[in-house]
Amino acid sequence: MYYSKYNIIVHLKNYPSYSIIHNLFHSQATLVSNDFIKRLQEAIQRDTISDMDPGDIELLKSRSFVYSDQDEEKQEIQRTYEAFSASSGGPKYFRHYEILLSYGCNLRCSYCFQKDRHDGLPMSRQRLALALKAIEELDEKATKNAFGDNDNARPALTIAGGEPLQYIPAHLELLEDIIEFSRSHDMNYDFTSNGYDLAKFIPFFQANGKCPTSIQITLDGVGTTHDRRRPHVSNGGSFSYIVDGIDAALKADILISLRVNVDRDNVDGLDLMAQLIEERGWTEKVLPYVAPVTDHSGVNGEYEGMESENVLCRKILERFQGNPALRKLFALRNFRGFEYVRACVETGKKSPPTFWRCEAMLGQKIFDPKGDIYSCFEGSGISKAQVGKYDPEFVLYPELLEQWSNLETLKSLHCADCRFAFVCAGGCPWHVIRTGKPECVPLKHQVTMAWNYFADLVLNNENSSSR
Ligand code: SF4
Ligand code: SF4
Repeated sequence: MYYSKYNIIVHLKNYPSYSIIHNLFHSQATLVSNDFIKRLQEAIQRDTISDMDPGDIELLKSRSFVYSDQDEEKQEIQRTYEAFSASSGGPKYFRHYEILLSYGCNLRCSYCFQKDRHDGLPMSRQRLALALKAIEELDEKATKNAFGDNDNARPALTIAGGEPLQYIPAHLELLEDIIEFSRSHDMNYDFTSNGYDLAKFIPFFQANGKCPTSIQITLDGVGTTHDRRRPHVSNGGSFSYIVDGIDAALKADILISLRVNVDRDNVDGLDLMAQLIEERGWTEKVLPYVAPVTDHSGVNGEYEGMESENVLCRKILERFQGNPALRKLFALRNFRGFEYVRACVETGKKSPPTFWRCEAMLGQKIFDPKGDIYSCFEGSGISKAQVGKYDPEFVLYPELLEQWSNLETLKSLHCADCRFAFVCAGGCPWHVIRTGKPECVPLKHQVTMAWNYFADLVLNNENSSSR
């Protein structure tokens, strides 16, 4: 009998008689007594799992913690991968296109991952026409390949930068063309924006007959905390303009994805952010979430606020513990170990294994203002991340695309033996391509922290189901 290498055992500090066994491939988890864990660990050590009590074996089998041999597990992984590849969650169905209007920005954020790329002019109107033609071509091919006549999944068009919503003539012209394209191609569009000029843009969207479906806006805290981290290029604050922009967008019925980038400098400010959200009445059509500041492009060596994901996660969980309403309000993004456990506990469903780390791995195409194509937003503008060009002609480079596809979880040579592979999915592929090695986050620590955070809930559920 083979004990899955993806099982981890987490001891619950506040409940010394209990542990959790969690399989990090298929995500089944169960609460067990530490007597059981003792028997199991002895059996693993002596390679005598088959000799355990029938009741113990039944428990291990019922949760697929054991297989008849390793091949059986490998076959299950392969079957799951093939099913995902053929499903609407796989690269075959992925139709996400992004246009970067300019690398220029009207803010100067302390941790900006594009701080080395703020040069250059907005995309020209002629170049935008070439980008839209390439998107049309790509999407026609995707539709034909994947959907036949049953096209239910809508393509997504994201406009980003630098800052795409700068209220200047060049951007207004480009956006008129993009909105017209989205109308004529029945494609929704959305933005990743800093929100500084957003209020001015609402009448512009309305006059052009189609508003964006959603806008991702970043607010890193309240008042001076945000202004210190995300000042205007003139060195003035940006907070009050962004708040007004969000109010205006909500009045126009536009969904706001409200991102809070956290690091050592502001991680303690979530209570004040929650207060702001309540005071402004941002209860509907606002999806607040917290994400760690990262430096995948290696441009933030001088930035002192950088903090490890695990320290940030611990601090956030401490805040959640002090104020449980925060957990309900904020989703956590890119704290993968925590999210994995949270999904399991809160929805009671299994978290699916991750075969593709991010949109870049699913085949996203990003058209930059210089005529080049990338698959990763953070790497855009850096030659090592380029996968094609569209000016003067549209061409994708197969050998460069392959660099990325070779980093799928099941193909990555760096991560072949890792028990966290289906949670972490090989780490950030851009980091691997840029540096030649993966950036391993100590996920065991994060998964352990998460189970201990949810221990009361798990034990309560267990007690009520056994009553
Ligand atoms: S490769 Fe993926 S995870 Fe890494 S920076 Fe790009 S989008 Fe993010
Ligand atoms: S990057 Fe590290 S932790 Fe992530 S899957 Fe690869 S080896 Fe495992």
